[in-house]
Amino acid sequence: MSDNPCLACPIDQGCCRNLDWMRLSPEEYERVYARVDDRMETRREGPFLLVRAKDKGACPHWDGHCTVYDERPTECRLYPQAIGSVFDGADMVLSVQAETPCPWRRALRGSDDAAAAMVRGLGQTVARQGQGVRVVREEGFGKLEVYFRRLARKLLGFGRYADTPYRPLIDLPRLFGRSR
Ligand code: SF4
Ligand code: SF4
Repeated sequence: MSDNPCLACPIDQGCCRNLDWMRLSPEEYERVYARVDDRMETRREGPFLLVRAKDKGACPHWDGHCTVYDERPTECRLYPQAIGSVFDGADMVLSVQAETPCPWRRALRGSDDAAAAMVRGLGQTVARQGQGVRVVREEGFGKLEVYFRRLARKLLGFGRYADTPYRPLIDLPRLFGRSR
């Protein structure tokens, strides 16, 4: 294996050639994708932007290699791990997933502490004033926590951002006037 194992990627750098819903801060979007926004689809998730290449194609910055490597966004730096979910609340809670489509995700997985610090840093750039940021790894008890958070959001609206497309069955925060 060379110094950069991705050069011999068994799925031919599929993570960049099939760019599908990556989470960015508005600053990252402006810096990296605003100049190619005609080739991107975007939607909002609270303070984040979810982006993917139109028709789930290649990232516009892919040209056999990443042409913006030094300025690539947090989720690209994090890969082969990824941000799984973001929950709003007194603290913003972000989950980190290790089970991504990268075939070498186990071999390439870097330091979990470094990954958590990177994700926490991204959250802190967009959190409301005074809002804490917590990172949960989707493994062991963390996986259980994220499962119940997703369930509570789907059923009752807890932790959801008001401007996102998903609608819970019973939106308790909205009913009680707590949605933002
Ligand atoms: S991170 Fe994984 S999927 Fe992406 S280029 Fe490297 S080996 Fe391939
Ligand atoms: S910015 Fe670079 S690393 Fe990120 S998806 Fe695009 S080509 Fe890949």
